[in-house]
Amino acid sequence: MDTTSLTGKQLAADLNAATADRAAALTASGAAPRLVLVVANDDPASGWYVKSLQRAAGKLGIACDTVDLGADASADAIRATLAELSGDPAVDAVMLQTPLPAGVALADVSSAITAAKDVDGVSPHSLGLLATGLPGFPPATAQAVVELAKFHDIPLSGRHVAVVGRSNVVGKPLAQLLLAENATVTVCHSRTTDLPAVTSAADIVVAAAGRAGLITGEHVRAGAVVIDVGTNEGPDGGIVGDVDAESVQGRAAALSPVPGGVGPVTTALLMAHVVRAAEAARG
Ligand code: NAP
Repeated sequence: MDTTSLTGKQLAADLNAATADRAAALTASGAAPRLVLVVANDDPASGWYVKSLQRAAGKLGIACDTVDLGADASADAIRATLAELSGDPAVDAVMLQTPLPAGVALADVSSAITAAKDVDGVSPHSLGLLATGLPGFPPATAQAVVELAKFHDIPLSGRHVAVVGRSNVVGKPLAQLLLAENATVTVCHSRTTDLPAVTSAADIVVAAAGRAGLITGEHVRAGAVVIDVGTNEGPDGGIVGDVDAESVQGRAAALSPVPGGVGPVTTALLMAHVVRAAEAARG
């Protein structure tokens, strides 16, 4: 069986073209949409991600500033900064980068980001809106999985989707989004007994565990679709996913590549959220 590559590049390009037009219209009518990234770590991967967001924003006409609080910032200092940015009319969107300093919980500090500016949907309020089907910003990575499937005409309604990972940023919100698409969802995690048996019962497997090579051909039934969210450092310093692509090739009907699958769609959706937040703020 030929395994189709579920690339995210065309979808990201389409989303970015629309975002750039909307950003230009906002700029023409007053000021460019403005995103602020709040950093409280000295993690190289986070630094790389911040640079890539700044580059993406710059290309689309979105102003992007960074507030660096240092790797030893307290929960109170992070919360105060997020609250101040939430109340600043010159700021349309706020994103808090992870990892956070030891002892600081994302759910605790992110509650200081107002839902209207929470473009990566991390706060308990945003996650509650998602769970109850109310309008808000879903976490961009979770949304990217759904949008990538739709773009490639992969039906979700009535399909059995196994999500491997239950984090608040990917696995859990993805389960909510998939339920909203009428999929039947199984959420797996590190205590799941016999992971290959569970995932190979699914029509679609989404790997979001952060473990390179976790999902092999043994985890995937012939003809299933596999979407790889994982971004792990590979042996040669490059990025690899959670799926052992070699063992899944020829068995799965389709597989999203890493890099070039979920990643570019995630960034494009984040930037689309920034523009949507700015449009809503300016009426
Ligand atoms: P996380 O917070 O570390 O959560 C990982 C989840 O995977 C946990 O629920 C964990 O289970 C589960 N897990 C770990 N090992 C497992 C195993 N052997 N079998 C089954 N489940 C296992 O990670 P995250 O923030 O959700 O991110 C997941 C991956 O997505 C990472 O590689 C991350 O870099 C990537 N990511 C990509 C993008 C993108 O744009 N492409 C964006 C965000 C994240 P427990 O709950 O039991 O510990």
